[in-house]
Amino acid sequence: MSKTILALMLLLVGAVSPGAQEKPEIEVTKLADQIYKLSYDGGGYTVKVIASIGEDGILLVDAGQPDRAEDIKAVLATLRDEPPRIIISTHVHVEHLGANHMWGDDPVIIGHRTLRSAMRSGGYLFEEFPDEALPDIMITDSTTVHFNGEDIIIFPVPAAHTDHDLVVWFTGSKIACVGAICNGHDFPSVDYTGNVMNYATVARSVLDFLPEDVLIVPGHGADCSTEEFGAFCDMLVATSETVARHAAEGMDVEAMKAANILADWSSYGGSYMSLNAWIETLARGMSGEQSKQRAWEPMYYAIRDRGAEAAVEYYFELRSDRANDYRFPDSDLAFIGYRLYMNNRISESIPFFERYLVEYPDGQYNEFSYEYLGLAYESLGDKKTALENFRRVLELNPENEAAAAKISELGD
Ligand SMILES: [Zn+2]
Repeated sequence: MSKTILALMLLLVGAVSPGAQEKPEIEVTKLADQIYKLSYDGGGYTVKVIASIGEDGILLVDAGQPDRAEDIKAVLATLRDEPPRIIISTHVHVEHLGANHMWGDDPVIIGHRTLRSAMRSGGYLFEEFPDEALPDIMITDSTTVHFNGEDIIIFPVPAAHTDHDLVVWFTGSKIACVGAICNGHDFPSVDYTGNVMNYATVARSVLDFLPEDVLIVPGHGADCSTEEFGAFCDMLVATSETVARHAAEGMDVEAMKAANILADWSSYGGSYMSLNAWIETLARGMSGEQSKQRAWEPMYYAIRDRGAEAAVEYYFELRSDRANDYRFPDSDLAFIGYRLYMNNRISESIPFFERYLVEYPDGQYNEFSYEYLGLAYESLGDKKTALENFRRVLELNPENEAAAAKISELGD
């Protein structure tokens, strides 16, 4: 029923990332009389900013990613050229609130009671959210805001995707922004603060609370009817029962994947949560392991207090001493390097990528690490080492065009 009324192509400003050329366009869709959806491909998933625009001004549900902040602002200005008065942040993930700060101190930001602390802990420390991005009003109970002539009911839900998700229901416009509680026709992801074991119950309770004729707008997945949301809830119940049954029969995760036990729901595996990743998520949740997070927080403070080189050594101490508290997937060092690089902490990112390549000579993120090392050395003015790293990228993947372009650009 929705109609695309405007599509703008906006060009990348500034940031360098491998393979990045033009940023995907931001599409504007009118969902109801005064409700607009700004959406774009955020890199493997759709990012949505929902705007209520009317006589009271602008209210946003989620604000988008930090590297698209200016683009989002430009597109919004084509609808109404003024800053939002209210921003509701559905949860901590960066594609929902990473651009909150672009409006400065003016808008009132509403989030869950624990959103502020979530933004200042765990892996989210690496996002280094500025103070203006933090919520001003934090809620624990259902709260109603009257804006643009309608009641907007905001209600927190128990831990599922994260432990601080908000659902935002525009009662007059008949639209419910459900964050990741429904993910359209795709499996959902589960944060370390969330709880996959609650997911089906939480999703069903949200569905039961809403009237039948409301449009469900997930944070990432396709917009859908309440009937389709019902099918999503049924999928959550059926897939978790299936994994539980096979686990009870003594089947381990690898065997479940090999036997393709969720084949009946394979259509839900088309996005960032694959069929096998969903089996792993459910199995981890059932074993209780899901609540363990990566050692991001001690690593963040180690980098700050001891410097990057020493923090890399500390990582291995943590890995041997704190295995009961954290999980330590092979990707850790490369991801810490990436997070530092993306926050412009270029020289601090280098020891992480370099040590990753030493520790995991056949690692999944080798091409990625060499490419970021190339970019890091290039931006530090060390052309020779940059070239060495871009050449290693091409050895691993002769089809990497970004690395080939860098070699011809930097080589004499
Ligand atoms: Zn999320």
